[in-house]
Order: sequence, then C-alpha cells, then structure tokens
Amino acid sequence: MLGLMQQRPLLISSLLDYAERYHAGREIVSRSVEGPLHRSNWGTIARRAKQVANLLQRLDVARGERIATLAWNHNRHLEIYFGVTCSGAVLHTVNPRLFPEQVRFIIDDAESSYMFFDVTFAALVEQLAPRLPNVRGYVALCAREAMPSIDVPNLLCYEDLLAAETGDHAWPSFDEDLASALCYTSGTTGNPKGVLQSHRSAVLHSLALMSADTMAISARESLLLCAPLFHVNCWGIPFAAAGTGAKLVLPGMKLDGASLFELIRDEAVTFCGAVPTVWLNLFAWMEANLNTTDQRGLKLRRVLSGGTAVPRVVIEKAHNYFGATMLHAWGMTEMSPLGTCGSLLAQHVGMNLDERMPVHLKQGRTIYGAEVRIVDDDGHELPRDGRSVGEIQVRGPWVLSGYFKGAGGKVVDEDGWFRTGDVAHMDADGFITITDRAKDVIKSGGEWISSIELENLAVSHPAVLEAAVVATRHPRWQERPLLLVHRKQGAEVSKEELLAFLSDKIAKWWLPDDVVFVEELPHTATGKVLKTRLREEYGDWLERPAGTTSR
Ligand code: AMP
Repeated sequence: MLGLMQQRPLLISSLLDYAERYHAGREIVSRSVEGPLHRSNWGTIARRAKQVANLLQRLDVARGERIATLAWNHNRHLEIYFGVTCSGAVLHTVNPRLFPEQVRFIIDDAESSYMFFDVTFAALVEQLAPRLPNVRGYVALCAREAMPSIDVPNLLCYEDLLAAETGDHAWPSFDEDLASALCYTSGTTGNPKGVLQSHRSAVLHSLALMSADTMAISARESLLLCAPLFHVNCWGIPFAAAGTGAKLVLPGMKLDGASLFELIRDEAVTFCGAVPTVWLNLFAWMEANLNTTDQRGLKLRRVLSGGTAVPRVVIEKAHNYFGATMLHAWGMTEMSPLGTCGSLLAQHVGMNLDERMPVHLKQGRTIYGAEVRIVDDDGHELPRDGRSVGEIQVRGPWVLSGYFKGAGGKVVDEDGWFRTGDVAHMDADGFITITDRAKDVIKSGGEWISSIELENLAVSHPAVLEAAVVATRHPRWQERPLLLVHRKQGAEVSKEELLAFLSDKIAKWWLPDDVVFVEELPHTATGKVLKTRLREEYGDWLERPAGTTSR
C-alpha cells in the first residue's frame, strides 16, 4: 500500500523561497572585492537571483547548461549560486588556486557556456579564453567603472546586465534528480574529476546540516563562511543557510587574522567554518595584537573545521580565546561533502576540555543519512572497536554514483559503496579516526604507522609551524617515516630536540628515522600538503649517503 503523502520535488528554489518569505530582512554581509563591507539580506539576494535567472534566459542558457564561476565569497557569488541552480542550469564553481592548466581543463571538461568572474581573476581569464572554445561570454562581477580592460570575446558587465532585468521570475518546477552543481575534486593525482550534485542531494544534505547533531544551522546563527564558495559549495552551507534564514558573513578574499577578527566581533558571528590553517593564522594574529579584554562580548560559540586533521592546538585555542566548541568534521567532494561531524554525546556533557579532547581529535561521528563503514583489503566490514584500521567506504543520497562523463569508470560497487581512499578506524558510537590517505600510509615491517598522528604531534611543538610525514624506502623495514618540518619564523629547534619531544608520546618504532627542515611545504589548491610531491622528492632519503649536501 502506498502512503498518501504529497510528492513535492526537493528543489534548491524551495530553500531560497523560504528565506525570501520568512527571513527577507536577515542580513548577508560581504567583504567586497573592492574592499568595503557590503550589506544585503535574503530578500535582496532572492530578488537579484531572479534577475540572474532572467539574464540567463536572455543569454539563451538552457536547462542543464553549466555556468562557471571564478569568484570569492561575497553576495554576487551567492546570487549566482541561487540564480543558476533555481532556474535549472548547473552551477560550476571553479577553484582559482589550481594551476591555470587545471582551471582550463576543468572549464573545458564541464563545457561551461558562460563564465562569471571576479576582476581579481581578469588576467587568468584573459590567459585562458583563447583555449576555451565552449565559453560564449565572460561576465565580470563588477559595476561599469570597475570593468577590466582585457581582450576576451563577449566581455560583459554583471551590474549592467542585472540592471536591465526585473526581479520577477517564477522558479520553474522540475525533476528533483536534475543536476544542480558541478564540483571538481582537487586532483592531487591525474586530472580533477567532476562530481555532479542534484537538487535532491543538495536539499537532503542541507537538511542534514541543519540538524542539531551536525552543524545545527538555524535562524539564530550568524555564520562566517571561510571555506571558499568554490570548494564543495562551501561545504553546502549556503543552501542550508537559505533553508533556515541564518545570517551569512562572507569574507571575500580577505582571510587574514585582522579581517576575520573584525567580522567575528562586528557581525556577532556565532558559528564559523574554516580549515585549520585559517584558524592558526587567526589565533597567531590575536596573540600578537590583542589583550584578553578585547575578547569580551564575542559571540562565537561553535567552530567547525576539517579538510585536514584538526590539531589539538586549534581546538584548545578556539576554547580559550572564544569559549567555542570544536566540531571536527570529515567528508569529501564526492559526498557533498559531509559524512561525519564531531558533535558530543550525552556522556561527554559536563566534561572539561582535557577530558573531551580525545573526542574532539577524532574526525567526528557518522551522521544520519551518510552510511560510513570501514573495510579490510578484501572488502569485509571491520569491527567498530576503535582499533581495526581499514579503508572508509560510504554511500547515501548525497554520495556520488559516478563521476561526470564517467571519468574513472565504475567507482561504486553493486551495493552503492564508494571507496574513499581514506584509512581509518571507527568506534562503537560511529566516531572515526583517520590515520591516513590510502596513498599516504607508511607500512613499516608490515605494520601501519599513522602519518597524521605523527604530524599532529609534531605541530604541537611550539617551534613548528607545519609538519608532514612521508614514507621513505628502507632496506629492512620497506618503509620508514621521515618528518619534514617548516619551523615558525625565528624559532629554533633541532632534530634531536624534536625526536626527544615525540619519543615519549608514541611507540618507539613509530619514531621518524630522520627530520628534514624545509623553507615551506608544497600544498594542493585546497590547502592540503602535497604528499605526492614529497614522496617523489624524499622517497629515497634513507638510501642517500649521509653527509652529502642533499641529506
Ligand atoms: P576534498 O574533496 O577536497 O574536500 O578532500 C577530501 C579529503 O580531505 C578526504 O578524502 C580526506 O582525505 C581529507 N579530509 C577531509 N576532512 C578531514 C579531516 N577532518 N581529517 C583528515 N583528513 C580530512
């Protein structure tokens, strides 16, 4: 017997309609690319999103057509987010931090027909345009007077175009399974691959972000979004924000400590999501510039971090400087991205920070809607005992079923499980601890050593800014850990001191065989340490004769 409830399609326009109808006055504050703060609200965003939709009609953009953006976090980008998706076109956010050739590959692979870009990327757009045959026009996100003088075909001015459109537009209704957004993976190896979200997946993921045991996004929050709108749609938060009417604070291109602190203070920010590096920069700025009284009156109570393992020091400083609790989350582009989130359980309530720390250091616990399991090399599920290490597999309504245009072939098994390439263990409550990327594991004499754990310990040394641990070949143990360290400016620490610091915190056989001090570590476009490059460079480190200049 079928249920007798209505079958209404889950469309992103329903989220925006809600914000427009009930939270029109709730603010959207942006640091504009031009510099000053820009104040808008959900009502204005919705109206301008409709102007964008009318513009797309005028430009003959068909349903399903990809519209690329190369832009920072600000109101114009947000309008395009909703204008494009709600009208049935596909939002294709491009990460400008990738190498130009990768940016070109991604726009070409997506066959995007228009490109909306911030003027800060004008030179990149001009460089790439001759090799982007599918792009019919380039829309500069600015007013007429700020138009860049670049030589690209069909250069258009966003504010002029919008001024010619009305804000009247009835959002169309269509199949909830139609594509809404295309995000490419960061592509540490090979070419980036496209992950194509649907309206249904985006709305269900938004509902998940609103739930109390994940990000608890609600009408009362003022959300500072430091994750870029071009990285997995800013972790999906803008869509969830619309569905609640939360206030949004968008930092533009300025993620330095002073700019972020000003927003946290002046916009009564209650929740902020950022990768660990952004947090570390903010705390360093606070330490250098503020005395404790300046922090009174701040409203920041919950902070979210992920993308890479969150070091202990970030959790401690969020607590000490803001009184904020860390939500350590894990996910990936292939899962929209959220899979786990470190919200506490009843037994953690009343614990002090030291007691809770082991929980915060884990990558969060499985959320409803994302099925997460750990399997051994033969694909058998491992016990949830907090010890058994294997690869994470995921499935669920916001997990991909295959990459765009079938790149990479069949990537989920018959039961829908996707192999994430992350290596972890899980406890009985569903908390996972990521020990490595599958490609980064160090196998010494057949036993696994967690590079992530060693890195976290190394960065807890006061002289260490950033650390990476990679496998280096060894005649007896096959692989041994090598620690690469970027020291803080002016800080001194020797190899012997660092090894002594680590030695009472880990098993003896985990101790790195050597420590190399580097000027800086290479990063991917999403801020992760580029381990592939380090392995290429240092894979033979222990085979090199000691005492040579390279060792
Ligand atoms: P991306 O698709 O660019 O968002 O990258 C996803 C990858 O980032 C995951 O597969 C993990 O390897 C890594 N990652 C994400 N969150 C965490 C975390 N909290 N701790 C460690 N690694 C993480």
